[in-house]
Amino acid sequence: MRAADRGAGASPAPWCGAFPCVPTRLATIRPPRRLGAAIALALAWVGLAGADDAAPAGAATWKAGVARAVITPTTPVWLAGYGSKRVPDGALHDLWMKVLALEDPAGRRAVLVTSDFQGVPRSMSDPVFERVAAAYGLGRAQLMITFSHNHCGPRLGDDLIDYYPVDPEQETLVREYTARMIERMVETIGRALDDLAPAVLATGRGRATFAVNRRNNPEGDVPALRAAGKPLAGPVDHDVPVLHVTRPDGTARAILFGYACHPTTLSFMTWNGDYPGFAQLEIEERHPGTTAMFVNTCGGDQNPLPRRTVELCMQYGHELAAGVEEALAGELRPIAPALATAYRSIELPYLAVVTRAELLAITSDPQAARGEAIKSRWATRLLTRLAAGETFPAAADYPLHAWRLGDTLVLGMGAETVVDYALRFKREFGAETWVCGYADDMLAYIPSRRVWEEGGYEGGARLYEYGRPALRWAGDVEDRIAKAVHELVAEVREP
Ligand SMILES: [Zn+2]
Repeated sequence: MRAADRGAGASPAPWCGAFPCVPTRLATIRPPRRLGAAIALALAWVGLAGADDAAPAGAATWKAGVARAVITPTTPVWLAGYGSKRVPDGALHDLWMKVLALEDPAGRRAVLVTSDFQGVPRSMSDPVFERVAAAYGLGRAQLMITFSHNHCGPRLGDDLIDYYPVDPEQETLVREYTARMIERMVETIGRALDDLAPAVLATGRGRATFAVNRRNNPEGDVPALRAAGKPLAGPVDHDVPVLHVTRPDGTARAILFGYACHPTTLSFMTWNGDYPGFAQLEIEERHPGTTAMFVNTCGGDQNPLPRRTVELCMQYGHELAAGVEEALAGELRPIAPALATAYRSIELPYLAVVTRAELLAITSDPQAARGEAIKSRWATRLLTRLAAGETFPAAADYPLHAWRLGDTLVLGMGAETVVDYALRFKREFGAETWVCGYADDMLAYIPSRRVWEEGGYEGGARLYEYGRPALRWAGDVEDRIAKAVHELVAEVREP
């Protein structure tokens, strides 16, 4: 219901607690109306910190670095997202990976990767984490690899492997493309670190309303409901959090923004970034020199509706870009230059690991094979693994991040988190909290307790679509995630 939307309403940052993560001088300054004022205030704070705390003059500032690389495939890799055997016929625009590196005056670093990938599997992100640690000394807590979940992006590694017909030639192409993307991501992160230079960070929040809770509103009903001005059902998160990064002289550097919605406006055979791609293009056109970066917040159960035309996709991109402009024109809060990062991998247990007998029942049922090719391929693949002597684990590893930038909390959560997580953590830690989904590993839908109890696509027995050795999560995954998130937030809160 709309009440859930209100759950993300204005409130102080309770997560901040007694830890002085907002300099009291800054907290008493009236928030600026415009960015120019935000920069001036942040610089004023830098000057005050230098005077009072005896920090070296000019040292107490953020450093930021930005880099980007095209990821549009140049070989006939299939399009991801809908599981068809499809080689795209061209591109509406290029696909990108983009990197924002941050460093505080103590030399603490954090690096965020955003991308137009549909899903980055662990088999891709793990090698990047290893190589980035070796090459640049960044630990796991310092790097978050996100993907927009763009359904008009390319296949990658073993992401959603059973969605696609088995085709050795295609698998070779996907393997080669993924290897190139690992190289490119490591190299792009290196360029962002090389670009580190003094910067000013400010944050704000706009709004866009095209995301619809797809569990509670039949797609065909939405246009008539919207036209009649009737309310749509189910929780949504229409916030557009924005992080503006500039050089101290005001030069544009990066605009990071988020939204909770599946990039599934389009379902056709042309590469493009769906609504986040169009939003980034528009923002970069309006702000020459900036790199626009998108994170999908908790859009696992949200769709852009109505959909399926390029016009609607461009319109949603424009609405999101307008939400970013609303934030930039509003009360941007300067972010004090202090960084803390924490990471944990927790175990999310399955309700029950699938057995050989259950898998055999699926593969021997011609009806099931015809009706559910994904499930049939999944069962066949898992039977092969069992025959090779493998034992399936009873739980999956689930990645969680907490970053503190000044008094701004940024959470990172693996895979397809439903909107309840964003609404809950913004209630618990403050409305300005960023709750980023689709980080590090596209391992499955992550239902809340509510969605798990309701069942259905995001909460029920569909884990096979992601290749998991089980059909359902255990019912307590939200409890486990929330406990770990609170512990991580406490870690970054401590001095
Ligand atoms: Zn999805």
